[in-house]
Amino acid sequence: NPGGPTIDQLAKIRKTHLNPALTTYYSKPLALHQGHKQWLFDINGNRYLDMFAGICTVSVGHCHPRITEAVTQQMQTLGHVSNVYYHSKIHEYSKRLADTLPANLKCIYFVNSGSEANDLALLMARAYTGKFDIVSLNNSYHGMTYQVMGMTSNNYYKYPVPGGAGFSKTMNPDIYSGIWGGNKCRDSPVQTDRTCNCVGECAAGLEYAKQFENKLNYDIPKNNIAAFWAESIQGVGGTVQYPKNYIKIVYDIVKKQGGLFVADEVQTGFGRTGEHFWGFEMHGIVPDIVTMAKGIGNGFPLAAVATTPEIAQGLTKAAHFNTYGGNPISCAVGIAVLDIIKDEKLQENSKEVGTYLLLELAKLKSQYPVIGDVRGKGLMVGVELVSDPESRKPLDAHTFMRFWEYCRDQRLIVGKGGLHGNVLRIKPPMCITKEDADFTVDVLEKAAQYIAS
Ligand code: PMP
Repeated sequence: NPGGPTIDQLAKIRKTHLNPALTTYYSKPLALHQGHKQWLFDINGNRYLDMFAGICTVSVGHCHPRITEAVTQQMQTLGHVSNVYYHSKIHEYSKRLADTLPANLKCIYFVNSGSEANDLALLMARAYTGKFDIVSLNNSYHGMTYQVMGMTSNNYYKYPVPGGAGFSKTMNPDIYSGIWGGNKCRDSPVQTDRTCNCVGECAAGLEYAKQFENKLNYDIPKNNIAAFWAESIQGVGGTVQYPKNYIKIVYDIVKKQGGLFVADEVQTGFGRTGEHFWGFEMHGIVPDIVTMAKGIGNGFPLAAVATTPEIAQGLTKAAHFNTYGGNPISCAVGIAVLDIIKDEKLQENSKEVGTYLLLELAKLKSQYPVIGDVRGKGLMVGVELVSDPESRKPLDAHTFMRFWEYCRDQRLIVGKGGLHGNVLRIKPPMCITKEDADFTVDVLEKAAQYIAS
């Protein structure tokens, strides 16, 4: 970055010209200059292993040459054009994307961000069902449009302003921190292929599902649920996995009442969980609506809502328009991402390296009491830091920050999240190697020793 602005100069501009709500990571902010594959470089040329990849956004690697090529070629041919015209890319891409989805989820509406996708899906669900109530999980994150904030459930993101009506939450089926679950359904430290280790029926899953039924009985007019909303694994919420069968039981209840099931695949889609292309597949259900963003465009502003032709029809009750959604450039990016995931076997890599990473982290957990839980699937991993593994009390914020900033000093970027902000979130580009996993485990081990010293 020769001749570029210094960090102090950037800080000054930021203070004056950027909205102060845009908070940054780290006490000494990281000023980035370049990205390449799984690495980031700061303005001083330091290289970092990016195990957070722009919050699951960079799926196939920073600055992938095939994406650069696709964008360049498309910009030279036909750049932005409104969807009031035909252009070939949106047709090619919608078909390609629909081919990755099961059953009748064949009808796509392209938008530009995850929040926008959930906002549109909300309209679709209400327009199609003629019902109003939306139930999501405590501890969920679905975005930041004014409507969608009603589904997001963490007071860190709540403004003291009147919100939309018709949103309610049900108890988060969290088997680590919640009141049901615990070691009964977590007898193995790592869940590589299941959400829960219970043999046979999982009592915790049944209990949490009962909470949902109570919610419907007490809080919502009879049979008025328009949709239930859930991520397949909670992302911002701290990589929370649900007990066995919970999603399936809730799904059946919702369908019985004439509601829709919406899967928010913004973080869990596009092969990240390894075993499946879509996260919801691990729960054995086919949602009515799937929302997707982040990994879909490898960082390019691209998102989508997929649904059945019948539900999509609900949106024709009035005119719906989106200027940038489905423009040829973003569609060219989306096609390139699908090609790269397939050609470079990135879903398979997520499974292989992700499982390896989870197992290595589990070894750390057995050695360091600060590591209360290691969980996840594929390359969607969470490490919960606690002050005491027995009580599972979250690590205090100050010590957590020391741990986390130490990782950055060792040139490892990991995210943070969870209700108490004490979960390390590991969601790297899906091209990482076992050596990168080893480096990550090594740095986390040193960090555990550092805070204990
Ligand atoms: N859903 C989930 C599960 C997310 O993690 C996010 C972003 N963190 C969103 C929706 C919102 O996406 P965006 O920031 O692109 O609006």
